Amino acid sequence: MIDVSHRGHKAVNPGLFSRRNFLANSSYLGAMYAAAKLLPMPALAAELADDSRISQTPVVDKGFASVRKIGAGLYATISDPSKGYQTVCNGGFLAGKDGALLIEGFISVAGAAFQMDALRMVSQVPVKGALDTHYHYDHSTGNAFFGANGIPLWAHANTAKRIVESYGAMQGADKAAFLGPLEKAVKEAKTETARKHREEYLAHITTVFNVSNSAVLALPNRPIDPAKLPMKVDLGGITAVIESYPGHSGTDVIVRVPEQNIVYAGDLLFSGLYPVCFDTQSTVSGWRQTLKTFASWDKDTVFVPGHGSVCGQEGVALSRALFDDIEEQAQKMHKAGVPAAEAADLYVVPEKYKNVLIFAWDFSIAPAITKLYAEWGAK
Ligand SMILES: [Zn+2]
Repeated sequence: MIDVSHRGHKAVNPGLFSRRNFLANSSYLGAMYAAAKLLPMPALAAELADDSRISQTPVVDKGFASVRKIGAGLYATISDPSKGYQTVCNGGFLAGKDGALLIEGFISVAGAAFQMDALRMVSQVPVKGALDTHYHYDHSTGNAFFGANGIPLWAHANTAKRIVESYGAMQGADKAAFLGPLEKAVKEAKTETARKHREEYLAHITTVFNVSNSAVLALPNRPIDPAKLPMKVDLGGITAVIESYPGHSGTDVIVRVPEQNIVYAGDLLFSGLYPVCFDTQSTVSGWRQTLKTFASWDKDTVFVPGHGSVCGQEGVALSRALFDDIEEQAQKMHKAGVPAAEAADLYVVPEKYKNVLIFAWDFSIAPAITKLYAEWGAK
């Protein structure tokens, strides 16, 4: 175990990553979120307003993210990308009597440093490690913070490989050539709706390209073999359990604290947003099975989702209902003879879900529909 003291951490001063410098490098993120119409979200879902485990007052609130207590020694970092792009995803930390575990590398080193600073506001215990819930850039391109501070980084065994294949491959690549096929898809779109969806996709992939090229990628050095899970981590008075479930990225791990009914779900749970299924290893059936498992846990379970408000079982129920609705509409289109590629643009957001955010159509709804068609053996 490596003792990462507060003094050691100060060697990397988060001030180096001033907000101004960061924003200068990341104005493309603004374009992305404007495209996604990502609105401010409350840190906590309404159903948790009276939950005595959860502090209504944050330990720290920087706008782009706030940190609050959600259990004994348990904290959630909740991002609000409408106010800044240092973190983007949610995370959190567990601070026991003997050690702490940090969750997520975030989208920037500044984001990872922010969470470390928040930990040090409430605890001085040595950091036992950090963990990426999966390989996606918004959870991992700030990993270099852990490398610079000698903090071991845990993740699903395939995470390092997928970071290199996905984002390493973009570094130094010819941007015009890389984005060419996506620009072509915009030009060739047959309907106004399809064109809008392809434009939004192009904007997001451009962002991923830019983030990948401005990050110094850092890889987890403590690969977790999913066959060996669940794994218990004793932090002194807090037993964290690391588990792996299918659905979002093929590299998803969650951190549960069963004694307190708290779950850090990573992107296996989107709270108040349509699930993001674009990953080649995302499976709709696998993900729905995972959500069914989440729903089977205690009714008082608190979930820290990968994105959106901290929620209870209602958040899981909404995610399941969204998948049900996508499937219902996709089934109807399939029976009516609509091919997958067309059906992907034709889902209609029902009135009751009009406040559910869509990160980007081609990252969430379109791939859910094409994956469902594929699961049915249809085209
Ligand atoms: Zn993700």
